[in-house]
Amino acid sequence: MKNKTKSFFLICLIIFAFALGAVFVFSEPCFTVQPAQSESKILQQVDAESIIFLTVPLYHHEDSYKLLLVNEEYPKLLEEGAKKIVPAYGRVPLSTSEIQLEEETLLQAEKMFTAAAEAGITNLVVTSGYRIKQEQEKLYREAKNKKYVARPGTSEHELGLALDIQVLRSITALKTKRWLAQHAHKYGFIMRYPQEKVAHTGKPYEPWHYRYVGNPHAAVIYESGFCLEEYIAALEPGNFYQAAFAGKKYLLYRVKAQGNYLPVPQGRNYWFSSDGTGHYIVTAEIGLE
Ligand SMILES: [Zn+2]
Repeated sequence: MKNKTKSFFLICLIIFAFALGAVFVFSEPCFTVQPAQSESKILQQVDAESIIFLTVPLYHHEDSYKLLLVNEEYPKLLEEGAKKIVPAYGRVPLSTSEIQLEEETLLQAEKMFTAAAEAGITNLVVTSGYRIKQEQEKLYREAKNKKYVARPGTSEHELGLALDIQVLRSITALKTKRWLAQHAHKYGFIMRYPQEKVAHTGKPYEPWHYRYVGNPHAAVIYESGFCLEEYIAALEPGNFYQAAFAGKKYLLYRVKAQGNYLPVPQGRNYWFSSDGTGHYIVTAEIGLE
């Protein structure tokens, strides 16, 4: 009898161990958004009781689309007049002289390429920048593999905020790729379609495609490991967040416009951007780190 009980427990134990193993082996990797990250130093949730807010009109406001989310779920085309597109020729290394970019994107790209050159990295070249609607349509129509070409209206190249950077073949190519992946965020750029975020971005891994979002956002995205979709979802409307970048502290929040007005902190340097989901993201300087 004793032996029978022992074997029964042993069998139960084996079954339990197998079941436990199966849970670990077969459970899907989890990519859920972690809202708030309140304990994290990267994006800290804060209360903004000491800040006085006033409302400002949205219209005629410049600088309002850096954080625009553009993908299959949120297609977006901007009017030509809303973008400040400038020629990149003579300012960054290009594969063809006609490449253009949004003004601030180009300014920051220029700084990034200068820093790369100072670090001895010269095998980088911009192969694509701003695309007008017709150009994206032609690319899409003619693409053999549509996986790598965004449907017109869903490409960040149509905003002027994206650039494709090719690492030229050389024995230092790996070093260059690493430098770019580790430093781009300092200039406001994010690798937009990382390998492990396909489920969120809906796009295959594109290590060459960099998107300008500005800082402190690029630094937060880099350090937290979020992709743009996750980052925007993590900024929950109604909450306030604090982030630090380059010795400055910033207050960040995501809010809906009230009519044509937006609440902004009084007496602070701020900028805001539509996020493409019906909200605006406000970024305000609130002091030194
Ligand atoms: Zn691209």
